[in-house]
Amino acid sequence: MRILVSNDDGYLSPGIEALVRVLRPLGEVVVVAPEQNRSGASNSLTLDRPLAVTEAPNGFFYVNGTPTDCVHIALTGLLTTPPDLVVSGINKGQNMGDDTIYSGTVAAAMEGYLFGIPAIAFSLVEKDLIHLESAARIAAEIVARQIANPLAELFLLNVNIPSRPYEELGPVVVTRLGKRHPSEPVFPTSNPRGDKLYWIGAAGGARDAGPGTDFHAVAQGQVAVTPLQIDLTHVAQLGTLEGWLAL
Ligand code: MN
Repeated sequence: MRILVSNDDGYLSPGIEALVRVLRPLGEVVVVAPEQNRSGASNSLTLDRPLAVTEAPNGFFYVNGTPTDCVHIALTGLLTTPPDLVVSGINKGQNMGDDTIYSGTVAAAMEGYLFGIPAIAFSLVEKDLIHLESAARIAAEIVARQIANPLAELFLLNVNIPSRPYEELGPVVVTRLGKRHPSEPVFPTSNPRGDKLYWIGAAGGARDAGPGTDFHAVAQGQVAVTPLQIDLTHVAQLGTLEGWLAL
């Protein structure tokens, strides 16, 4: 089993180190991750400059680009043999509901999925990383399950792990994405020259967070596993749109 690991918090983040540590016994692990924290980079590719790939002393490769750049480069020339699995994380903070649209953690996994490789994104719900080791243990268990009993279909899994000691975590459950309220307002500020600037506001609170959603599962202390797909076509609107265009 060859496993490509990436993330969006950067190759020096504690989350990727913890993930690699637990995955090494399960297979041949290669790390290609962003040099800097690129959280919120979504599926962006860098097309206005060439990218440097550098090997760190610990053997991780880092790229001066986005999470998607990292996996893309790995799969289109850097790696001599394609991986059997792409794993992203462990992200510092949750990626639930609408977060998945903006997430670089999910994007790194999604790039693998687009290339036909099964992929899993792991996120730890709280940013304090106190329970990173228990999250890593869950990640290893899920990857080990795929190795022992591979899912028959190509998949992209989004996993959110509550910040709790391992013994206090609920079961791993299958969920759908919930939805958030719109983002908090921008935070106005200025620079020393008096130019007006804006910080993008925090994500909105959970809105669609009922039973069955990732938000609900995590609130119960359960590990939420949501299978994702990429086709954004609004199939139910195809007929309406055809009628509208025919008017
Ligand atoms: Mn991140």
